[in-house]
Amino acid sequence: MNNNKYHYQCTNCNTQFNESEVTYLCPNCNKSNSPILPPKGVLKTIYNYQKLINEKTSFSKLKQNIFLDLLPINSLESLPNLKIGNTPLYSIDKINNSKLNFNLFLKDDSQNPTYSFKDRASAIVSAYAKEKGFNTIVTASTGNAGSSLAGICAAQNQKAIIIVPESAPIAKLTQILMYGATIIPVKGTYDDAFDLSIKSTEEFGWYNRNTAFNPLTIEGKKTVAFELFEQINFTVPDRIFVPVGDGVIISGVYKGFEDLLKLQIIDHMPIIVAVQAKKSNNLVRNIENSEFEKELSSTIADSISVDIPRNFFMAKQYLEKYNGEHISISDEEIITASQILSTNTGLFAEPAAAAAFAGLLAYKSKNKLSDNSNNIVLLTGSGLKDLKAVNSLLNIPEAIDPTINNLKDLLP
Ligand SMILES: [Zn+2]
Repeated sequence: MNNNKYHYQCTNCNTQFNESEVTYLCPNCNKSNSPILPPKGVLKTIYNYQKLINEKTSFSKLKQNIFLDLLPINSLESLPNLKIGNTPLYSIDKINNSKLNFNLFLKDDSQNPTYSFKDRASAIVSAYAKEKGFNTIVTASTGNAGSSLAGICAAQNQKAIIIVPESAPIAKLTQILMYGATIIPVKGTYDDAFDLSIKSTEEFGWYNRNTAFNPLTIEGKKTVAFELFEQINFTVPDRIFVPVGDGVIISGVYKGFEDLLKLQIIDHMPIIVAVQAKKSNNLVRNIENSEFEKELSSTIADSISVDIPRNFFMAKQYLEKYNGEHISISDEEIITASQILSTNTGLFAEPAAAAAFAGLLAYKSKNKLSDNSNNIVLLTGSGLKDLKAVNSLLNIPEAIDPTINNLKDLLP
């Protein structure tokens, strides 16, 4: 097993598999999975860290090769010819004209080709499919993953089949169709879409991108950690605020830093703060429970609105192992944070990303961020993807006759 570039390890039973042995969930754990509980058997991708250490692999050496040594693909040429990742990190020193006592950085992942963080995962999945000869990729999605896969497949000349619950936001559906993917709306929830996508994988032999089912989505998402490490001058941030729905993005951020830890490039892990919406906090609310209890989610932040977090066990393990923290945010706080973010920074983020920023604001108001500490908020997607969510903030004046006096009346 050690001669291969990587192998898989089951999150729950720790069984190791060669890459050729298994594609999705651990077959042992999957046997006892039930549709009403988070699935067991999500696989973690393990590289040959000792070999890389023996070869004196440094961060700059990894970067020279665009981190190919830590990616589950053979060639960088398999990746789409689009700018994926390498998104900006903005430093903000004031909020509402008051100077911050800590350093605040915003990682703007809306600057990916389809305007969301999900492109990091779609790119790796698409490249892997290309290397393995799959021409059709299917995914279940509430929106962002589907629009991302559709865009990446358009760039790669692959066929994308996107199965969505009929309630998905119109901007995301529009993107999927404009990229030329096949869209399959289903009556029911994301879980119903998920089940149909797996049946279609079995029936037609398509490659499946489902998040926390396909282990490579985590490998794509982890690349943000490498960028953050470099962008704050090759140091480990003190805290990273991450929006959490099914637990895959947060596991990706952890995995990236864990890879660096295992390679002895860093000597400790950042504190990661899992931010969930109060009306969809099935992941953080269950961390300490012995039995998983589901509450129906109803937050305005559609991309983190999840009843059964698909990557519950891995996210829980990471949060416990590396002293992660968590916080739940009300929808009102999300909307307020969205406005504070936009008006102070010029970054209009989707509600899920605004939730992460709201998490930071909550920590700030409780003075939980120490002087000069480095804090990052992960902005996972563009606000243009879900305009309905901020409707309550909008007050567009009625049209005026175009005179200066009328204009004066409208000035604040
Ligand atoms: Zn297992």
